[in-house]
Amino acid sequence: MPTSSTIDTLVIGAGLAGLSCAHHTDRPCRVVEAADHVGGKAKSEHFEGFTFDVTGHWLHLRDPDMKALALTLCGDDHFMRIRRMSRVWSHGVYTRYPYQANTFGLPPEVIKECVMGAIEAAKTRPETVALEDEPENFADWCRFYFGEGIARHFMIPYNAKLWGVPATEITSRWCQRFVPRPALEDIVAGAVGCNEKAMGYNAEFLYPRTGGIQTLAEAFADAVGREHIQLSSPVAKVDPAARVATLADGSTIAYTHLVSTMQLPHLIDRMSDVPAAVQAARAKLRGNVVRYLNVGVDGPLGQPDHWIYVPEEKWPFYRVGSFSNANPAMAPAGCGALYIEMSDRDTPLDDLREVIGEGLVAMGLIDDPARIRFMHERIIDNAYVIYDFDYHASRQTVLDHLESLGIQSIGRYGDWNYSSMEDALLDGRRAARRLMDQESAR
Ligand SMILES: Cc1cc2nc3c(=O)[nH]c(=O)nc-3n(C[C@H](O)[C@H](O)[C@H](O)COP(=O)(O)OP(=O)(O)OC[C@H]3O[C@@H](n4cnc5c(N)ncnc54)[C@H](O)[C@@H]3O)c2cc1C
Repeated sequence: MPTSSTIDTLVIGAGLAGLSCAHHTDRPCRVVEAADHVGGKAKSEHFEGFTFDVTGHWLHLRDPDMKALALTLCGDDHFMRIRRMSRVWSHGVYTRYPYQANTFGLPPEVIKECVMGAIEAAKTRPETVALEDEPENFADWCRFYFGEGIARHFMIPYNAKLWGVPATEITSRWCQRFVPRPALEDIVAGAVGCNEKAMGYNAEFLYPRTGGIQTLAEAFADAVGREHIQLSSPVAKVDPAARVATLADGSTIAYTHLVSTMQLPHLIDRMSDVPAAVQAARAKLRGNVVRYLNVGVDGPLGQPDHWIYVPEEKWPFYRVGSFSNANPAMAPAGCGALYIEMSDRDTPLDDLREVIGEGLVAMGLIDDPARIRFMHERIIDNAYVIYDFDYHASRQTVLDHLESLGIQSIGRYGDWNYSSMEDALLDGRRAARRLMDQESAR
């Protein structure tokens, strides 16, 4: 039965950004969520004693206040602290992550190509390069910083598999934070096997002892108060002039402030009176599809990694990860819980089972495909926003329009960016503070 109600602050989405906003604001607030559970992408599935997140969801908390809050809400003992164990598998051998600083172990001709390429790139590159002078196209950026060999053997094929578009179609602007750029000395040291540095933003992470990553969202939802969270309530329309949101069942909610964490293009599609220029910009926002498999394995896994990068095109997946290697409680005793992120987004799973089993055996993760107890396929639309050449201008046009209407669109998908769970929590906090500042300025 449709209802109509009024609330000071309406938050769309009970993912980490929405929950954090609701937690941090002192305004009367309601969170409406399309799904029948909280967490958004930070959700966990349970099946026959196995627990799976939406692929690897490893938690990095750098902001001291956010870390303290998460530990308080979840309990000090809730998280395990884990040292990253991840490698690259190519040419039939394992090398350490990141590839660019650890080519030792690869066939000698590949190492030579990688090292000579890196030396050549360093010779031709100025000592310091301003951000705006870096090559814009990601493929050129890889050659510029890592040289031809590392670009050809890892960076370009791996990223094409991950993003689902050629590396020439994306800009380098997403990757400053996520792609480690070792010095030439480290590249050479890594080629001869004496690079001991752990590189990258995720050398260590936190992970819940039980229940999977959704427990983090559940703790925030408890703190917000379940009575303020309305599940199974997709927002179907937003009328920004009247400040009214309409749910799929026809219920209306009048609001004073709106914070949205739903996908930016979807918000625009649900809004009335969107100017043509904004609609045109929205049409240019692109995201990729992530197709992944939750895999239960009978018996232990043969490799210890939390995740393994697979750059070679001959395999239909680009990364294989293991929840149970990070936390054995994610699988029944003695079993393995894997996730496989697929670069082949089209071929029916039944036609890929054999090559996937072959790949897992070749990687030494299992000794026999018969040990695969189940493989469940999952799809996420717009999992990664694509930083193509239209990205910045289009996103800005859309966000400026929302800003002019007083709507805060936040979180990984509301802000339309590539970011982490902690970023979502911080976005929510920032939005709440803005709301409180606006109110006190009235
Ligand atoms: C494959 C993958 C792997 C990742 N791995 C990591 C990792 O290892 N570490 C890390 O820190 N981060 C990781 N992330 C990023 C992390 O998942 C996100 O940054 C974070 O969960 C985003 O939270 P959010 O609240 O912004 O968005 P979401 O989690 O997407 O939440 C948005 C919510 O809005 C709801 N919604 C959408 N439309 C409507 C509507 N019309 N009405 C009502 N509700 C609606 C959705 O159902 C959802 O619950 C990964 C992401 C992906 C896709």
